[in-house]
Amino acid sequence: MSYQPTGQPNVPFQPPPGGFPQQGPPLSGYAPQPFAPPPPPKRNTGKIVGFIALGICFLLLGGGGAVFLFSSKGSTPIKGVSPTQPVYEALNKALANKDEDAFLKPFQGDALKTQQRKVFRNLVKVPFKTARFERVARTAGGEVEGVSFVHQIKGVDVAPVYEEYAFTFTKDAAGAQVVTDVKGADHPFPDTSGAFYPAPWDVYDDMAVEQLGRVVVISDKAHAADTQRFTPYIAKAADDDVAAWDRSSAGESMVSKGALVVLEPKRDVYSRFYREGEENDALEAGANLVLPRHGADSEDKTQFGGSRIVMDSSLSRFTSRDWRRGVKQISRHEIGHAMVAPYNSARGALPVEVDTWVSEGFAGYMESRDNPAQTQADNRSTLQGYLMDYATTPESDRDSFYAQDANERHQNYVLARLAIRYMAEKYGEKGTFNFVTAEYRDPGYHSQKAHFQQYLGVDRSTFMEKWRAFVRKEVPGVRGEG
Ligand SMILES: [Zn+2]
Repeated sequence: MSYQPTGQPNVPFQPPPGGFPQQGPPLSGYAPQPFAPPPPPKRNTGKIVGFIALGICFLLLGGGGAVFLFSSKGSTPIKGVSPTQPVYEALNKALANKDEDAFLKPFQGDALKTQQRKVFRNLVKVPFKTARFERVARTAGGEVEGVSFVHQIKGVDVAPVYEEYAFTFTKDAAGAQVVTDVKGADHPFPDTSGAFYPAPWDVYDDMAVEQLGRVVVISDKAHAADTQRFTPYIAKAADDDVAAWDRSSAGESMVSKGALVVLEPKRDVYSRFYREGEENDALEAGANLVLPRHGADSEDKTQFGGSRIVMDSSLSRFTSRDWRRGVKQISRHEIGHAMVAPYNSARGALPVEVDTWVSEGFAGYMESRDNPAQTQADNRSTLQGYLMDYATTPESDRDSFYAQDANERHQNYVLARLAIRYMAEKYGEKGTFNFVTAEYRDPGYHSQKAHFQQYLGVDRSTFMEKWRAFVRKEVPGVRGEG
């Protein structure tokens, strides 16, 4: 799910004083890279790349090898009445009524009230269908309670999702429970796969929210003018993706047709959203982060409730002269990921994930499907001299796909995009999109072989052979046999 800048790899974020990071060549260029990218820093933990790069678009949280990726259950409220229950009821009623004074009442101290006033004023700008705080666990300290902010955004989430906080409680002089501290949970609560903190409403002092068509676009109020300028192009991208899907007549029972996009130009802020503590991926320009459905258990068909798209708006797609096209392209890519994300069935401690070439190939296809000349120039500059043999297939494994080397990573994107494009040209978009969602629904090598037969009427090895021929035709400079 991560979106790789074309033509030019992002360099590690080093903003010049008061300025933006380096920008790539003009978008129309797709030119060979004018410089060798510096090697990205090595990562200590294996999978941060995967997360971000999320080809699979999954939110992967955890460090030091601990992976809380998919738990068997979503966050589940504890049954029974707790002494703190009246506090949650008061907060939820206040939120529903947009009553700021009532919302702030349980929070003690000027600093905490100031913090929560900002959160409240941000929250009331969001078109929630559901929004409530609920207790999930009491940790060993006794005073600190795990809290889920369970929410569903209208037109965006197919089911409620959650964000995890830690509230510290005490009793006031009258014996009533009050809250003395609020933090994001620093690790997932039991039975959940991530804290998914912070959301933009936690980060921004004053949040700008633009709603247009299928999209909700959020930024710092300081960037409200830019956000208003970009939003029509993001909305158009969502319309383009949905129109393509609708025209294909592919199945759409779980297709998500709306999107929430956060635009942030400061890299250290951008890289925090929904994944605090994770390492920045310097090659990432945007990402689609998929949030588990609240309360899902392993038997549920719907494991994921919705997506959050984050984009680094300091990069060339937003700042070049051709920004209109750049914004539409990255938006089509990430919204493409978000559309099919609800089909994802990965769960448990060792989830089987959709092949990365399928997820990124689909997003790359949606991004580029009506830009043939520009896409071909990128294909040719990227794969010039690339070596293929009889065993070459597009990269399935996300660690390998999201290579630390920028050129290698971009080759993987292009090869995956060519696989889905070949599939769509040869077998039609209906069969291709149905193949993609079937892969999300039931990933794995043996399932994939069956999906090739069922949706495309071809066996996998024949498809791969024909795909290699397609790549060679598209890029005459590809080397090797097979
Ligand atoms: Zn992607």
